Amino acid sequence: MPSDPALELRGRLIRSLGALRDMLPGSFVERKRACGRPNCHCADGQNLHAQYQISVLVEGKPKAFNVPARLVEQVRKQVEMRHRFDAAAATICGINLRRFLKEKEDQ
Ligand SMILES: [Zn+2]
Repeated sequence: MPSDPALELRGRLIRSLGALRDMLPGSFVERKRACGRPNCHCADGQNLHAQYQISVLVEGKPKAFNVPARLVEQVRKQVEMRHRFDAAAATICGINLRRFLKEKEDQ
């Protein structure tokens, strides 16, 4: 049976999804803020502290959760996994839609 490139791609994408199991929802946000201590380097309003958050919809409401410094790189990757998951799902759905439309035409 000749191989179908679309099905090969679909299989590859499906097999890649397991690696995305730790994905996190929402978007990764970097904010700059002053801590409020008068003697801190941030008091000049220029050298602000970086604060990292994930911004997520929880039951339809936007929430922001702080990300501790030790988890920043990990969480950034986990949020990126969700984007790769969505892109893979969109590609798989596109392949399946084309297959459906073709199957519908075949009598
Ligand atoms: Zn400060």
